[in-house]
Amino acid sequence: MIKLADIKDAFLHMLFPHVCTGCGNDIVSTHNFLCLSCLNAMPETQFQFFLSNPIEKSFWGRMPLNAATAQYYFTKESLMQILLHELKYKGNRELGFYLGRLMGEQIIQSERFAGIEALVPLPLYPSRERKRGYNQSELLCHGMADVLMIPVITNAIARNKFTDSQTKKGRVERWKNMEGKFEIMNTDSVCNRHVLLVDDVITTGATMEACGNELLKIPGLSLSIASLCYATQ
Ligand SMILES: [Zn+2]
Repeated sequence: MIKLADIKDAFLHMLFPHVCTGCGNDIVSTHNFLCLSCLNAMPETQFQFFLSNPIEKSFWGRMPLNAATAQYYFTKESLMQILLHELKYKGNRELGFYLGRLMGEQIIQSERFAGIEALVPLPLYPSRERKRGYNQSELLCHGMADVLMIPVITNAIARNKFTDSQTKKGRVERWKNMEGKFEIMNTDSVCNRHVLLVDDVITTGATMEACGNELLKIPGLSLSIASLCYATQ
């Protein structure tokens, strides 16, 4: 039997064609951003299932983590690059939510992440977030939260440009601080909890490390990390 909702969807599709963000193919469902063929071609790492995966190894000796993963390999001139560009520079917020859902669907299958109690997006500089209008990692978190049914916490930690006191420091020291200083703002929602810190891309992991080590100063907090992509160097 044809449902009224299907007719409405088909009609809307005629008026506003919804196409695959990856290849431009015509896809019917308005809830998907990728066609099945693009979805199947996504370079999944499957890291979430493996202890001592390359992301976890890269943080050994830098910060104590429960588990770490990145969902897809990032390569230039790839579908992943198109998606990241849409997410970061084209204001495609719904895509962020969709990709977050994909991350959630992988993570929920992994025993290693079963104890996660809250999602914390890696903060942007306030000036950058204002300019972009959103934090792409926060969009990913909301998509993940839709699958994992846990809260997204955005008031725990903030990122600031270097402050006046830092201008007195030497050049090298200031350069080291260019990544920004992370500052704990509110511990109520994250203390004594297992937190998953989320970002869009891990390259060297320096930003994750700076933010994660700050979070780990909160009493009773244990940390895992997840990113959408892993850019191998
Ligand atoms: Zn496609």
